[in-house]
Amino acid sequence: MSQVAASLGYTSLAGPGSAARILVVDDEPYMCDVCTRTLQRGGYQVTATSDPRAAERMLRDDQHFDLLLTDIKMPSMSGLELALIARERDPAIAIIIMTGFATMENLQQSVQRGIADFLSKPFELDHLRLAVDQALHKRSILQDNLRLQALEQLLDSSKALSATLELSEVADILLRVTLQQSAYQTGFVLLMEERSVPPRIVPAVASGELLAAGGQLAERAFEEHQTLIGQDVAFCRLDGGELRYALAVPLRAQGEVNGVLLLCSDQAAALRPGILEGVALLANHAGAALRNAALYGKLGQAYQRVQDLDRLKSEFIAIASHELRTPLSIVLGYTMMVRDQSAAEQRQYLERVMESAQRIKDIVDDMVSLRHLENGEAQYAPEPVVMQELVQYTIDRIRPTATERQQNISVQLPEQPLQFTCDREKLLLILGHLLSNAVRFTPDGGQIAVRTELRPAGALDRNGRYLAPSHIAATLPWVVVEVQDNGIGIAEREQPRIFDRFYQVANSLTRDHGGTGLGLALVRELMIMLGGAVWVESRPGHGSTFGIALPYRQPTVGAEKQ
Ligand code: ADP
Repeated sequence: MSQVAASLGYTSLAGPGSAARILVVDDEPYMCDVCTRTLQRGGYQVTATSDPRAAERMLRDDQHFDLLLTDIKMPSMSGLELALIARERDPAIAIIIMTGFATMENLQQSVQRGIADFLSKPFELDHLRLAVDQALHKRSILQDNLRLQALEQLLDSSKALSATLELSEVADILLRVTLQQSAYQTGFVLLMEERSVPPRIVPAVASGELLAAGGQLAERAFEEHQTLIGQDVAFCRLDGGELRYALAVPLRAQGEVNGVLLLCSDQAAALRPGILEGVALLANHAGAALRNAALYGKLGQAYQRVQDLDRLKSEFIAIASHELRTPLSIVLGYTMMVRDQSAAEQRQYLERVMESAQRIKDIVDDMVSLRHLENGEAQYAPEPVVMQELVQYTIDRIRPTATERQQNISVQLPEQPLQFTCDREKLLLILGHLLSNAVRFTPDGGQIAVRTELRPAGALDRNGRYLAPSHIAATLPWVVVEVQDNGIGIAEREQPRIFDRFYQVANSLTRDHGGTGLGLALVRELMIMLGGAVWVESRPGHGSTFGIALPYRQPTVGAEKQ
């Protein structure tokens, strides 16, 4: 044992050896001798004494014995008294009383105390061996029963452990149960997440102050991954007294130790027989429960942070859009005025200023629209529209940019005008975003194709990955527009997220395309408002197809009259 370990006074609590340990007590040294030799030959570990007081001390010091073989009538103390003490310390200990005077009175007393094994002196050595074997067999059955009872109780507790995600509650349950099952007076749960960080002590028990040696013992159990017992050092202070005995049990989860259960007592305390395995089992459950609780706590914090961030973003949108709108209109208005009165060269510069100001205005408009949609303030303004016209108008607006980049835009439109009722401005905004994205995320020289068609009712489910909620009109045909590009594409795992506000696949530092991450969020909200759906199909490196579907609501005669 190292010096530190020695000064801490701890020993490893390895499992008990296989040979049963027997304590022989008889005031006649000769009897002690005979019994010792006979039993040793049978493979038992024997401790013998002719002084019952010495035997009493051994029992009280919690020296571990499986069987007490004692004479009944001894000068300083009766064997029955000794049996009583032994039972008190270990309810499952096997006891054999040796007596030459097996009176009815003795027998009655013994039966009352649950001690039923007798050996009448003088006895044959074979009888001794038989009696010992039988008593030890009974002990093992009794131990199994106790273990089962304890495990049942521990199982109930472990169910409770799995049911909670509160760190302090997990620690509380663990301590309550282990203290109930042991002679320890108090305890602590020390959470040790990382080696470098000092352990966090869960204040599950109000009583007791953990002292340095207690912390060190726990740390040792943590590092060595094993249960340790410590003695003769003050591990904890309780009600003014020092507790100088301690048991440190590592708490494990997925092969890692993430904490230690430390139990303290002012005397050599023990776990009730058969309980250690149960405590180890419970410690494992507790380890997993503590880990879950800690992860849950972190998750909660992260969620809170995300919510705070989301609130900040909304506030930012509200302030930025409000504060930018007016000065921007002034910039645009005056620039336009000056441009109209300027010479050709200055005009060019002013065009550039206007383009940039218009770009800022578009972003601000997106922010405002999104806010209105989210607040339910946006108005739906239905009017008869012809889809071909809107598509063509949008393409004509984007074409100069596409031409600059040698991109080809092909368009496929039905011959019959697709006239239906919709909100013209909102539809233009949607088409504008989808086409502008196709141009921006497709390299120079790329291909963009726009297709418009009428699809029968119900056909959308096959394609529509991002269906709007239930208000989709399932009985109407769909006006479908698809914008296909052969650009950079979007990985499968990113696809559900690109419709979130501010989400961009490449982060702002590595991205070489401009943008705010608001466009598709706006498209989704608008599509929900228009009772339609939007979806994407894409393969990185091959391109993307964004589709929208709108219910084909035709202006009815009745509606026109209204
Ligand atoms: P922005 O284009 O302003 O970044 P959007 O909300 O319109 O914001 O798009 C979100 C993200 O989705 C883009 O940043 C891009 O990563 C991805 N994306 C959108 N359209 C396409 C497209 N046609 N091809 C590849 N990626 C696209």
